[in-house]
Amino acid sequence: MDAGLDQRGYVGDRGRFAELRDAVRALIQAASEGGGYAPEARAIVNRASAAAPSWLELTDEPGIEEKTDPAGSAVDAELAAVARDAITLLAGERREALRACQAPACLQLFLKSHPRQEFCGPVCGNRARAARHYARHKGE
Ligand SMILES: [Zn+2]
Repeated sequence: MDAGLDQRGYVGDRGRFAELRDAVRALIQAASEGGGYAPEARAIVNRASAAAPSWLELTDEPGIEEKTDPAGSAVDAELAAVARDAITLLAGERREALRACQAPACLQLFLKSHPRQEFCGPVCGNRARAARHYARHKGE
C-alpha cells in the first residue's frame, strides 16, 4: 500500500475531509437513532475542531469577533469550521430533530421540520409512496 494513501485510498487532505465526513455522518446517524456517540468518531471531530487556527475575542460593544491566524493552514480552518458546526448541531436543541431519510436507498440525513416528517424531501416521499404502492399491488 502507498504510504500517502489512507485505508479508503484517499490521499492527504482529501483523506482528512473524508474521515471527518464519515465521523460526522456516524455521529448524526447515532443522534437520529437516539444512541450514544462512538468514541472514535467523537475524537475525529474534536481533533479537527481543536486544530482551528482561529479563536473568539470579546469586544467592548460587547460582542464577539472571530479572529483567524493568517499563518494558519486553510485546510485546518475548513475542517475545524465543519467540526464546529457539527458539534454545535450535535449538542444543541435541534439534536432531537436529526433523522435519517426513510426512503429506499436514500442515505440523506436531515433536520425534521414538522412532527411527522419521514423523508429528506418531497422527491423521496413520492418515491417511497410509489414503492409502497407497487409492493401492495405486485402480483394482482
Ligand atoms: Zn431521502
